Amino acid sequence: MMRDHPDAVRAPVAAHDLPALLRLAGEAVVFVDNDWVVRYCNDVYLSNLGMSSDRVIGRTPFDYQPLFERSIFYESIQQCRQSRQPLSRIGYSTVLGRWLMVRVFPVEDGMMMLANDASESVVQQYHLAGQAVKDTLTGLPNKLALTRDMTDLVEAGEPFCLTLLSLNRFKDVNDALGYAGGDRVLMEIASRLQSGTVEGEVLFRLNGDEFAVVSRKEIAHCPARVEAWQTAAKHPVLIDGKSFVLGYSAGAVAFPRDGDAAELLLKRAALSLHHAKRNGRYKVATFDPALELQSTLRAELEAELRLAILERQFTLMFQPQGCLRTGQVVGAEALIRWQHPTRGLLMPGQFLPLAQDCGLMGQIDRLVLEQAVALVAAMQRNNLQLRLSINLSVDSLADPTMAEQVHTVLQAAQVEPAWLEVEITEDSLMKDVETSTRVMEEMSRLGVCVSIDDFGTGYSSFAYLAKFPVSTLKIDRSFIKDMQEGAASHKIVKGMVRLGHSLQLTVVAEGAETAEQIELLRRLHCNVVQGYGYARPMTPDALQSFVLSRQAPQAMSAFSI
Ligand code: C2E
Ligand code: CA
Ligand code: CA
Repeated sequence: MMRDHPDAVRAPVAAHDLPALLRLAGEAVVFVDNDWVVRYCNDVYLSNLGMSSDRVIGRTPFDYQPLFERSIFYESIQQCRQSRQPLSRIGYSTVLGRWLMVRVFPVEDGMMMLANDASESVVQQYHLAGQAVKDTLTGLPNKLALTRDMTDLVEAGEPFCLTLLSLNRFKDVNDALGYAGGDRVLMEIASRLQSGTVEGEVLFRLNGDEFAVVSRKEIAHCPARVEAWQTAAKHPVLIDGKSFVLGYSAGAVAFPRDGDAAELLLKRAALSLHHAKRNGRYKVATFDPALELQSTLRAELEAELRLAILERQFTLMFQPQGCLRTGQVVGAEALIRWQHPTRGLLMPGQFLPLAQDCGLMGQIDRLVLEQAVALVAAMQRNNLQLRLSINLSVDSLADPTMAEQVHTVLQAAQVEPAWLEVEITEDSLMKDVETSTRVMEEMSRLGVCVSIDDFGTGYSSFAYLAKFPVSTLKIDRSFIKDMQEGAASHKIVKGMVRLGHSLQLTVVAEGAETAEQIELLRRLHCNVVQGYGYARPMTPDALQSFVLSRQAPQAMSAFSI
């Protein structure tokens, strides 16, 4: 049953009173318009959330709904929006601790969602299908069996401890051996773990490279047990003549200390595991309530970021790039800012890493592309010809349709490709050389310039550099920032400029702040400077005035600092 609303027992209900009928049926109802704003919801929905209507009506679910409910709500609605077809699915609600049957219907001007409790039928189904509690690859009991066993222990009030184990770098194994080889490694690991379990411990396989152990021992024993499983994993696994040494990260929770329901314990164990992975591998982390707070804040920011993308809350600043011979503006780089409705202006470092983790970078790059190209077109209408560069993330590099998208955006704005440059960091280039090379080739075939960003911080080999179809090398700011005559950084920059020129590339120095650095760069025959010493990032209007003020060649001394 869904949480009872105080009015739920009121009867009889008139046949035409739809909200009352739905309440009797235990159905939560919510209607969101095409901008995700909640226009209607019934009191079952409100009581499930534990919120009053003023916190919900007129706002979007991203404002009030916790992240872990998103998979049911956001994804169902999003999918239905795209397909315009009714959809129904079963999902687990962590807030209610129940399985829900969710149905979404496209209606005029928005989406209607109905949800009711499906826990009983879900549990029945699993009990009927004996196989459903066994993992088909390893034969170990699976996640459902784990949930069921933990629920039994919780109901019996029996203390236990749950440890989640995840293999480190399993992706590398899959990359090297393919999925079939990866499966063989998992089977080997499962059998090692199984033979490493002692009395009072039960091993489960959850999914992918994740295993779980339920133990009747106290949580204080957990680190020693994880250590024992690590030791068993340290012997190399040999598959197809390749040898892998694998280790685990682990997260552990105890009942009743860390929660009083199976799903809550699982969620907190997963949070601890995530923490262990982030803070050095081969460690076990036990649950700490502070982790939950951090993750809630992160979840809030993630929900806000998704909304920001829908509402285009981003603005672009442009940092001019100056020719070191003439002082004229030769281009400008688009740098994103998030105009957050309550937190103020956020810099890229404050949200791009999260966007990266949540797989949102592709969408952000796309918005930047559209805005930058629109500015090129607007400037051209004002008789200003300036090339703008945008940054491409690893996600965009991996997107096979990227070049096509760039082409479409340029064509729609009637902008020649040569007025756009894409910056790709040396680091992301080297992550997947093959794909990056393909994207770079497609871009240069289109006529879009490609530059290597943050040069010197990654590990590109000269052999690759010569092959990449790029036109520009941007020397990373870290080399320029402390550059003084005769210092090691000066010599390194000299070498990089020569290298760039020998490959017929334009060399840009990033982050030059002082007149002395600009002068040194000019004497090294570096071509272009981008740094506070030449100009700071500025608004599109300021950029246009700046370009006009620098149209005539300037003496070096006229560079503003
Ligand atoms: P980046 O591509 O290396 O961009 C240059 C960064 O250095 C900018 O910081 C710029 O404001 C800063 N900078 C420029 N000159 C100087 C200087 O003389 N001194 C100092 N101290 N800093 C200088 P910002 O705007 O905070 O951007 C940081 C990074 O965020 C960028 O580094 C880029 O990696 C990423 N980023 C920014 N906008 C976008 C975007 O639209 N898309 C993508 N994918 N990444 C972006
Ligand atoms: Ca850049
Ligand atoms: Ca850079």
